[in-house]
Amino acid sequence: MIMKPRTEPLELKAKKLLNVRMNAIHNEWNVANIQKGYEGEKQFDALFENSPDHWLILNDLLLDNNNSKFQIDTLVIATNNIYLFDVKNFKGDFCIEGDKWKSTYGKEITNPVFQLQRCESSFRQLLQNNRIGSEFSVAAYLVFVNPEFTLYNALRDLPIVLPTQINRFLEKLRKYSPNQPLSSSQMMLAKQLVAMNIDQSPYARLPQYDFENLIKGIICEHCQVFMINSMKRSQLICPKCGKSEAVESCVLRSAEEFKLLFPEKKITTNNIYEWCKIITCKKRINRI
Ligand SMILES: [Zn+2]
Repeated sequence: MIMKPRTEPLELKAKKLLNVRMNAIHNEWNVANIQKGYEGEKQFDALFENSPDHWLILNDLLLDNNNSKFQIDTLVIATNNIYLFDVKNFKGDFCIEGDKWKSTYGKEITNPVFQLQRCESSFRQLLQNNRIGSEFSVAAYLVFVNPEFTLYNALRDLPIVLPTQINRFLEKLRKYSPNQPLSSSQMMLAKQLVAMNIDQSPYARLPQYDFENLIKGIICEHCQVFMINSMKRSQLICPKCGKSEAVESCVLRSAEEFKLLFPEKKITTNNIYEWCKIITCKKRINRI
């Protein structure tokens, strides 16, 4: 049972929009990275679709222990165990040398096992400090979901699940956690953790922007380019993927984007008219 679903982070949504509207090439790498991480997490989520009914799944938790925040990609509360997963969508060859992790180009990356251990330790402390979940044991794993990921020199006792092991690993967890009715302590813990989750504002991590300086127009939902008029008056078309979309749906979508980027601004006919730019009839915008 999913107790906290995963949604596309607002920060990612807003950054994608700003990338198109600011012509900000310097942001693209950052967006690509967040997008890649999010896709890896969704891929991992899909593996839990047929998980036992009594597993409570909490996605994308941001928690605070003594003023230090930590994030958990996926947390599963099973019969007697809590499983904590850090999902990585790394692609390519990586190598472990002592405590150091390196890509095959020799570039050192932050040791993800240390990150995982810090997260696990913060989580245990959070449970202890709040006197909850003492009847559960906690296990944390680093899961690599990209089939094109290879890791050299990994010792067998590291808490790592490689792409070729994921299915068997989850099978094993299911065996450890035989079908049992959901207990009230599981449910209580899940609710407490959801309540502790911090809703962080995505705006703090966005580049500076204002309405006047952004490029106006309607963006294709699929390929992040501006749409153009089509032969039909009722539709716009994307010059890249060729998909057409009803004007009404284009305008509503753009109004949603406007709301996301400018939560403090009012949605008025004039604002949306200017924001969409391509719709020349103001009355039409007003009607929509
Ligand atoms: Zn398109």
